[in-house]
Amino acid sequence: MLLKHFVVNPFGVNAFVLSNDVGETILIDPSVSREAERKALADYIVSNNLKVVRLLNTHLHLDHVLGNAFVERTYGVKPEAHEEDAFLLDLQEEQSQMFGLPVEETSPALGDYLAEGDMVEIPGISLKVFHIAGHSPGGLAFYCENPGEVNGKKAPPLLFSGDILFAGSMGRSDLFGGDEEALVSGIKSKLMTLPAETLVFPGHGPTTTIGNERCWF
Ligand SMILES: [Zn+2]
Ligand SMILES: [Zn+2]
Repeated sequence: MLLKHFVVNPFGVNAFVLSNDVGETILIDPSVSREAERKALADYIVSNNLKVVRLLNTHLHLDHVLGNAFVERTYGVKPEAHEEDAFLLDLQEEQSQMFGLPVEETSPALGDYLAEGDMVEIPGISLKVFHIAGHSPGGLAFYCENPGEVNGKKAPPLLFSGDILFAGSMGRSDLFGGDEEALVSGIKSKLMTLPAETLVFPGHGPTTTIGNERCWF
């Protein structure tokens, strides 16, 4: 697998590009909002001969969906996320005002729903879907149990945790439909039970491991 990471938009969202050895590519929260960011993503895709086949959103807060319109228009794939977050796409204008984040192009509607236990699979890459409510009602994390080689090196399991779990903290629960109790119990039961060496890639900020975060939960 090739794994590339961009930090994008004024909120510093981590956007991930996962590609298999024939170039098929899954985008996770490709939240590009500025011309230079759209160009950097597009250039990376062209120069590595990649074909975007899936567009996954960990959740539908505005900062995570800013690139959806560009990706749909450019690569012809629709966003996929949990159904319980779909209402947030109807609140993009409210979120824009609340967060002071201008929206040039709103996200298109979801092409498909993802739910707990689903597998997102392309040859060589399997992501298991965890649904953990609390930061948003439909928050998702994507777990790759056996990534094989990542960027040429044998890798431990990978977890793309969205805004559910960060290095040293967890997501806030005071936004649209947040629920702190649900967030903590979901993190404990679904994420803290993963192998300690699991590399965690949050929606914002640095990478961590499950082992590093266990002391908080
Ligand atoms: Zn969020
Ligand atoms: Zn966020």
